[in-house]
Amino acid sequence: MSIRFSLPLIDADVIAEVNDTLTNTGWLTTGPKVRLLEDEISKITRTPVLCVNSWTSGAMLMLRWLGIGPGDEVIIPAYTYSATALCAMNLGATVVMVDVSDDVTIDPEKIRAAVTERTKAVIPVDIAGWPADYDAIHAVLDEPEVRARFVPSTERQEKLGRVFVVTDAAHSIGAVYKGEPAGQLADATVFSLHSVKNITTGEGGAIALNLPAPFDNDEEYIFLRALALNGQTKSAYEKNQPGAWRYDIIDQGLKVNLPDIGAAIGLAQIRKYESTLLPDRKRMFARYQDGFAGYDWALRPIEKNAERESSCHLYMLRISGADESRRDSIIESIARRGVGVNVHYIPMPMLTLFKTRGYRIEDYPATYALYANEITLPLYNGLTDDQIDEVIQAVIDSVEENA
Ligand SMILES: *Cc1c(COP(=O)(O)O)cnc(C)c1O
Repeated sequence: MSIRFSLPLIDADVIAEVNDTLTNTGWLTTGPKVRLLEDEISKITRTPVLCVNSWTSGAMLMLRWLGIGPGDEVIIPAYTYSATALCAMNLGATVVMVDVSDDVTIDPEKIRAAVTERTKAVIPVDIAGWPADYDAIHAVLDEPEVRARFVPSTERQEKLGRVFVVTDAAHSIGAVYKGEPAGQLADATVFSLHSVKNITTGEGGAIALNLPAPFDNDEEYIFLRALALNGQTKSAYEKNQPGAWRYDIIDQGLKVNLPDIGAAIGLAQIRKYESTLLPDRKRMFARYQDGFAGYDWALRPIEKNAERESSCHLYMLRISGADESRRDSIIESIARRGVGVNVHYIPMPMLTLFKTRGYRIEDYPATYALYANEITLPLYNGLTDDQIDEVIQAVIDSVEENA
């Protein structure tokens, strides 16, 4: 029997919700299901939430909202998926990569050293669902000498008065940092609703707005909703009401709205996320933790401490002492046993695009070390205890085979 690395949850509730969209609403693109999904995510983040068609487009929308473009710098960790860089690069900005701490999230000390008079934003990444160290990040950005480097070049940047913190929370819906949920930890938090994530709409994303005063988050939500729809003040759904045909284009927007047909999938999932799906992930994570306890070579990921609690998106196991080539051999052995695993992440400086742009992996030793011996195991709703035990056994046997 083979075990896939990832599988989206398509259960009876999802099918019923999609069926309802198709048979009862007469609506496929952005409409009532998107609004319901935004309301459900809001209950978790306690912020206004705007749904969009991907994490990448949501991050671009927020950077565009701030007026980021050529000449600006955006600080990100080297250890993440490439979208974290591309959202800024595709607006013409320069990405400044820094190394991570040993907890796999961006090193706040490295942020301090990287801030220049061109820095407009930092994008911390909650890898695997483990929140970055937000208090330390905000403390660095609030230091008088760091604040003094900030040179605003748009009205919104002026209003903010400091470097913008927009989080890559692609993995971390439902994660907690010092009692606060993801969504409350940065100026804007972007979740991914891609098919492999904890909650999915097929493709999709959601932006939680937590801008400081004097910004009004409800007002910015209305503006961003237009900005995500070509800058148009009314969606097709709203224009579809009798007499509501007139609209305006108020700014140069993007076309990144989420369709209802996808929102229905996520809606069925998120309604039971905190009651069932997330606790289930935590239980599976714990089963892996128990399964690898007592094996000296198993460097197990962290899911909870006094300050932070992961959303258990990925189970990132590390093999003590393994270099890249031994790790790769172990993965081949695991694959021969019919188990799909993955590696998170190939550091961006090791990928062609970024190498060509002059980034060097030698500059990110912590990132490289965390990548070289990493293997991510299957973790998704619907995976059975027997399957998890089979994965654990496949890993143990494969590590022994490649001792
Ligand atoms: C999945 C992912 C993204 C991109 O999400 P999309 O919705 O596919 O754009 C960005 N960052 C990280 C860390 C991811 O895992």
